[in-house]
Amino acid sequence: MKVLIRYFDNAATTRIKEEVLKEMLPYLTEEYGNASSIYKLGRNSKKAIEEARKKVANLLKCEPGEIYFTSCGSESDNMALKGLAYNQKEKNTGKNHIITSKIEHPAILESCKSLEKQGFEITYLDVNEEGFVNLNSLENAIKEKTFLISIMFANNEIGTIEPIEEISKIAKKHSIIFHTDAVQAVGNIEINVKQLGIDMLSMSGHKIYAPKGIGAIYINKNIEIKRFLDGGHQEKNKRAGTENIAEIVGLGKACEIAEKNLKTYQEKLTNLREYFFEQIEENFKDVKINGSRMKRLPGNCNICFKNIDSNELLFKLDENGICASGGSACSSGDNSISHVLTAIGVSSEFANGVLRITFGDFNNKDDVDYLIRTLKKIN
Ligand code: PLP
Repeated sequence: MKVLIRYFDNAATTRIKEEVLKEMLPYLTEEYGNASSIYKLGRNSKKAIEEARKKVANLLKCEPGEIYFTSCGSESDNMALKGLAYNQKEKNTGKNHIITSKIEHPAILESCKSLEKQGFEITYLDVNEEGFVNLNSLENAIKEKTFLISIMFANNEIGTIEPIEEISKIAKKHSIIFHTDAVQAVGNIEINVKQLGIDMLSMSGHKIYAPKGIGAIYINKNIEIKRFLDGGHQEKNKRAGTENIAEIVGLGKACEIAEKNLKTYQEKLTNLREYFFEQIEENFKDVKINGSRMKRLPGNCNICFKNIDSNELLFKLDENGICASGGSACSSGDNSISHVLTAIGVSSEFANGVLRITFGDFNNKDDVDYLIRTLKKIN
């Protein structure tokens, strides 16, 4: 018997929206011109890219010229950290220190490790039991040689939203560049990069109903980075490679939809989240909710069952047609306890029983009821 799929892993990836796909299709068929070509077919592609750039900029409230397309959120993170770091080196600024947090995505943590091997110094800030960075610790970590603070907008596992405006004020006070990995936040919460004082921001298409393989980075026009992908002069010489027009168009459309529907989308996901938490608290003992209850991504639920094996639980959910995650997609299949749960101090008897449910636009209350019923049946 075919089991109906109920998808609760929207932080890992989302399903492409019909409107997004429809907008992309011509650029996979008749509109195949290279955007650098001067004839009309090429100019059409160039025009489509610039339209999409405007839509991304509209969502983030910046100038279109401050948006650069990349292949994914990971590339945007690498570009921000390495692009800035290599620029410091090339310009001989004498600055070599970066501050980040212990709960960042591997795209940031691994970029930092790579930079450490090249002589850069990194401070990894602790977070509290809800996953918040401490602002005093951040300020105390600043040195003469600090050129960058990179703190994620919202955590991909536990959903905690960091105090971005306050962090940016500290960065400004010390003339340090502030980058944020907003891959989970864009399209889920309102972001005005200018008001928030963000200098660089990473985002990804597949978390907001565009396809996998497209990302973008906002770089304030006053900031200089050294490009680390050498080749042609695309993206104002910041990122070589023939543009992926169809996906860029898809990302633009996804951003346009996100901007238009942000309030209702947030409300819908927050209601599903709170209903799920209520049901969990009502029906299960020995369960712990991770992350902040108040400053949390609308669709994120992260809970731990005491003395339960997360992988076994996910397997049984899968048998019942439920797609969910333990921790993040990048760490699933890996039996070690997530670095985020370790950083917020969850004990191993709970941390091994982690379940991450992330709601999206295609979910409804009926899905939550089915999920709770299934959890009761198999637990
Ligand atoms: N940063 C965060 C916070 C993420 O959640 C992810 C993906 O899960 C990434 C970066 C990487 O994005 P991508 O999958 O587009 O490379």
